Amino acid sequence: MKQLPKEFNVLQIEEKWQKRWEEMGIYRFDWKDRKRPTYVIDTPPPYPSGDFHMGNVLNWTYFDIVARYKRMRGYNVLFPQGWDCHGLPTEVETEKEHNIKKREVPPDHFVKLCEQLTSKYIDIMKNSIKRLAISVDWTTEYKTMNPDFWRRTQLSFILLHKKDLIYQGTYPINWCPRCETAIADAEVEHETKQGTLHYIKFQLEDGGHLSIATTRPELLPACVTVAVNPHDERYKQHIGKTIAVPTANRKVKIITDDLVDPAFGTGVVMICTYGDKADVKCTQKHKLSVIMAINEKGEMSKNAGKYAGLTMDQAREAIVKDLEKQGLIEKTEPLQQEIGVCWRCDTPIEILEQEQWFMKTRMLTPLVEKNALEITWYPDYMKKRLIDWAKSLDWDWVISRQRIFATPIPVWYCKKCEQIILAEPDWLPIDPRTEPPKIDKCSKCGSTNFKPETDVLDTWFDSSISCAVHAGWPDKKDWQTWFPADLHPSGYDIIRTWAYYLMVRHLALFDQKPYKSCLINGMVLGTDGRMMHKSLGNYVAAPEVLDKYGADAARQWSATGGATGSDIPFRWPDVEYAWRFLIKLWNATRFASLHLQDYTPTKKEAKLELIDRWLLSKLDRVTQKATEALDDCQFNIAMEETRNFTWHQLCDRYIEAIKHRLYKPETYGEEKRKAAQYTLYTAIYRTLQLLAPVSPHITEEIYQLMYAEDKKHKSIHISPWPTPQKIDEEAEKYGDLLVAVIGEIRREKSEKRLPLNTFIKKLTIYAGSKKSAHILKQTAEDIAGTCKTEKIEILPKKGEGREVQGYANVHYTANY
Ligand SMILES: [Zn+2]
Ligand SMILES: [Zn+2]
Repeated sequence: MKQLPKEFNVLQIEEKWQKRWEEMGIYRFDWKDRKRPTYVIDTPPPYPSGDFHMGNVLNWTYFDIVARYKRMRGYNVLFPQGWDCHGLPTEVETEKEHNIKKREVPPDHFVKLCEQLTSKYIDIMKNSIKRLAISVDWTTEYKTMNPDFWRRTQLSFILLHKKDLIYQGTYPINWCPRCETAIADAEVEHETKQGTLHYIKFQLEDGGHLSIATTRPELLPACVTVAVNPHDERYKQHIGKTIAVPTANRKVKIITDDLVDPAFGTGVVMICTYGDKADVKCTQKHKLSVIMAINEKGEMSKNAGKYAGLTMDQAREAIVKDLEKQGLIEKTEPLQQEIGVCWRCDTPIEILEQEQWFMKTRMLTPLVEKNALEITWYPDYMKKRLIDWAKSLDWDWVISRQRIFATPIPVWYCKKCEQIILAEPDWLPIDPRTEPPKIDKCSKCGSTNFKPETDVLDTWFDSSISCAVHAGWPDKKDWQTWFPADLHPSGYDIIRTWAYYLMVRHLALFDQKPYKSCLINGMVLGTDGRMMHKSLGNYVAAPEVLDKYGADAARQWSATGGATGSDIPFRWPDVEYAWRFLIKLWNATRFASLHLQDYTPTKKEAKLELIDRWLLSKLDRVTQKATEALDDCQFNIAMEETRNFTWHQLCDRYIEAIKHRLYKPETYGEEKRKAAQYTLYTAIYRTLQLLAPVSPHITEEIYQLMYAEDKKHKSIHISPWPTPQKIDEEAEKYGDLLVAVIGEIRREKSEKRLPLNTFIKKLTIYAGSKKSAHILKQTAEDIAGTCKTEKIEILPKKGEGREVQGYANVHYTANY
């Protein structure tokens, strides 16, 4: 056994072990192993933004704790890491960086530039992940932008198409006018904004008018009907008649619909193409005509007549002005309204009707619900978010996007007869934008002219097959051995995307759920309790924390910050506390290493003293609690229990109470020293193991210096997780009394500002009962040795003096 040096440099130790672990290959998944049970983690592939923030530290730490714990439990752990590469922000940044427009360069050239940027960001994030000691098996790394991943994404498209779960059609979709692409419901966020409600007069055919309240007068050119509630007595006589749409030079019918709220505005509404989802519903229900007055850029289309070409804001202004001129604005009122915005750029979304590709997701909702109920959720209440989301979906998933840097849709069209040509699996990966289909002629009309599908796939369409992909689909024949994944970790903010899309896609493709359990992390709050965000001035960058206190302390903050699934505030004092704990651990184990130099590890226990048995039983108890907590993904409980045990019971109480035995075998005997050494040796090893999943570096460093020679495991991280031996209730109960007495005396000394080694001339303990007196008499030597007492007297009677905390019947007097 080596002695621990006095000084230790956290950052140096961390860097050293990160390299060595990689060399040792201890995170490597063994594909051939059929003996050990496997544990598969579906690590969410992040979007390579180049940023690594405290939220990343939190969620990576969560699943790394699970990975390390399971490895120690004897599992063959598959812990892959992928990158969800495609995305609009990369396109925008690439355009800026090279001062180009994506539509003006060949698509394959633009894709290359996006790939370069993405690779740069992956390297940055990969370094951060390594620095946090995330025990990923890097041989399993995958990137969704690689041809090999394209092949899998495209194959999944073909399979779903053949299963009739993908279709092409013209339907209303959410559209971001700034990003100029369709987006899914999951990508629409809701914001409250201040709007203006305009009361506009519509002329009735037989004279008079109806007032209609709307926040979007610019949609007047798209108004296709006017609706009232069928039970609204005020408007009964107008139903079925026509009414003129101001500024549009058009008459529309007045119809009834239950969805009209008589209490909103005047109770008369205009139905447009499309103001909101209610317009879509009404249009479909009553088979109304469709007049698209807004185009893909968010400008007024030719259907808007004289307003064509204006932006929506300009059109609103112009139309309101025209209405005012004609005296058609009755009044205006301010209105708080909820609007949908693009999650990437915050631009209000429009509903356009367009030809797009869709996946039939809504019909799978009952299956999604059934499976969501079958899997284990940490914490349990999070399953509701997935189920509620699936049930709330009005539309199928629009999977086509009008972008460039993405997986191409493997489809061409016959120029003559418009027949769809779907790629064959053995053509994949393929980019129809640059390659023709591998056929001679159209099977329907014989034409040899084809045109490519230029739309590409939604990024979620790539990443939502990850569970099958890292299991080896479609190449490994036995990929189902590693499927479904045992764990899918996710933030609660992406349950509706990641957890949902994974579920719905794997169910559609394989009729199987993709994961058996779902681990949910909360968000990281800033020091002011608000969401941590660069724009709020409460942002702390992860490298700042790692540079100052190291990964072990940052990981402790993640583990102990709060219950799994809850939001975790970032507070510097929490990280400092974690760091101080590591120093305490180092100093205590260093002390032990000095006193264990002549100790030969042995299975045969020396005759243990009460305090030794007390500590070992407490250790068994904490082992049990930590194990149960880790099985349940309650990281805060596991870590708090272990940290409290280490700090207070092992360091503050036990080590203090055995120093006299370690220092003075000539007074207290060799056997008592051996018993203390045995206990210390056993307890520290177990403590290191319990701490290893959360603070991997320091535990490894101490393990290698003190234990590796004897225990012979290559690393503490593959040592078998401890099983509790037995709880010794009696030793704990009596030991608690002994520890309380010693603690009280030490407290008194420090209250009196006396050094702890100040001698007590005479100590008289009034035990309050025969039983307590008996116990304390047996341990009198430890009390005297620890509290530096020259003479000690223990009496069974109740007596005077200072009360021992927690033991109202036990008092003592000390003469200094
Ligand atoms: Zn957008
Ligand atoms: Zn054809």
